[in-house]
Amino acid sequence: SPVLVWFRDDHRLSDNPALSAAVASGSRVLCFYVLDEASEGIRPLGGAARWWLHGSLRALGEALERAGSRLVLFRGPALQAVETVVRGTGASAIYWNRRYGAAEIAVDSALKKSLTERGIKAHSFNGRLLNEPWEVANQAGKPFQVFTPYLRAVTARPISTPIPSPERIPGGTWGESILARATSLDALGLEPSSPDWASGIRAAWQCGEQAAQDRLKEFIGAGLKGYAEQRDRPFMDGTSRLSPHLRFGEISPRQVWHAVMGAVAREPGLESDARKYLSEVVWRDFSYQLLDVHPHLPDRSHSPRFEHFPWAGNPETLKAWQRGLTGYPIVDAGMRQLWQTAWMHNRVRMIVASFLVKHLLTDWRQGESWFWDTLVDADPANNAFGWQWVAGSGPDSAPFHRIFNPVTQGEKFDPDGRYVRTYVPELASLPAAFIHKPWEAPPGLLHEKGIRLGETYPAPIVPHGPARARALEAFQSLRDLE
Ligand code: FAD
Repeated sequence: SPVLVWFRDDHRLSDNPALSAAVASGSRVLCFYVLDEASEGIRPLGGAARWWLHGSLRALGEALERAGSRLVLFRGPALQAVETVVRGTGASAIYWNRRYGAAEIAVDSALKKSLTERGIKAHSFNGRLLNEPWEVANQAGKPFQVFTPYLRAVTARPISTPIPSPERIPGGTWGESILARATSLDALGLEPSSPDWASGIRAAWQCGEQAAQDRLKEFIGAGLKGYAEQRDRPFMDGTSRLSPHLRFGEISPRQVWHAVMGAVAREPGLESDARKYLSEVVWRDFSYQLLDVHPHLPDRSHSPRFEHFPWAGNPETLKAWQRGLTGYPIVDAGMRQLWQTAWMHNRVRMIVASFLVKHLLTDWRQGESWFWDTLVDADPANNAFGWQWVAGSGPDSAPFHRIFNPVTQGEKFDPDGRYVRTYVPELASLPAAFIHKPWEAPPGLLHEKGIRLGETYPAPIVPHGPARARALEAFQSLRDLE
């Protein structure tokens, strides 16, 4: 009888331990995917991630066909769908790479139990992380709560070497009755139809394992040198942009790790940039470790006193933030980069998140859910962790009283205003001295450039000084609760 490989956010053939183990079993291998938007607690993907998933599944299906197999698609709830596949194919075993969200773990455990009871083996692997959450612990055997000692512990451990793609996958035949329950990629309805809002995203990205490998190679060749400094320059292509590929498992962090270490071995001068870069990849593992220990990370403030925070945001200011119409150019540029390309530079993610939570006193969960819907890399662990970090409510986070000034942040990280000019074209003709604070430009200059604040570009929706004071006061009210 055949064995099954259930793909879930591990859309690649290389360094895919579940796939390789299934092939090594010597049986015929049937590969499938389930779009599950129905199981209890499963968070449906946002629009941008659905767009990516479409391309990712298409690329995976094509790669499997080239290897002699195919990808058959089903719709969830996963427990029922997988049971149907197991029964319909008469499979003797199923292989998958592990997931770390509470709802996903519940599905996988229930399935494993029911299959095992019937003598069907369920084999699970680590295909997503450098180290799984329970593999890295402090001296007391407890998970780390703070990043720096976690990083130190990770650096002291070997990272296993990636497994090459199987040369051929011995494909089996799917029976007609089970194929009748399958669906086509288009029928999953993952791509927008009307309106087609994805044209900017399509122009910015290519999905799939090959594109991920190409991007990694390009980054190592041209972007790794200087990364430590350039990663904070949003106007440059100074980061790897591997995040959506990692999100959907089109590349594994082990592959990234070993490719970067290989580059350092060839060119030792890259070492400090490589160390910085790999520490970012370790942040990803760290946020998965936090999600494992705190399953409510995406929907509940980790610090319980934040449940009493006097949020004062309103729908109009939230909308202005979402649309990039706050009147603060660096914030608006970031929100528009997100809308147009479904990705935002990390430095600007921090600035816009701080602005929403602190200047607009809006509950971080509103921001988290907007990012969830609009980012191609929307990730259950990284997104929740990023927002809680900025809000100051997380396990390891920035202090609440650190309130980014959007003008000085803009001047520091986008000194010539190139990033703002790209995404806020209505300010493009302003000289650098005023690009981050157009309200300080002489009226004659604004007039000459055809800029009318409040008409062609908004005036700031909140003044920085009073907004900062209000945020500090709100935070103080929390401390008074102690
Ligand atoms: P690089 O600088 O090239 O980093 C390489 C990889 O390391 C990234 O692809 C990512 O997987 C990982 N990484 C980098 N920075 C971080 C970080 N701070 N935390 C965790 N992992 C990191 N990242 C997501 O992948 N998905 C999200 O939904 C997400 N939401 C965020 C929300 C907020 C409010 C903030 C402040 C950050 C968020 N991040 C998220 C982290 C970070 O901004 C992105 O990972 C990064 O911008 C992706 O671009 P890159 O691949 O070019 O990064």
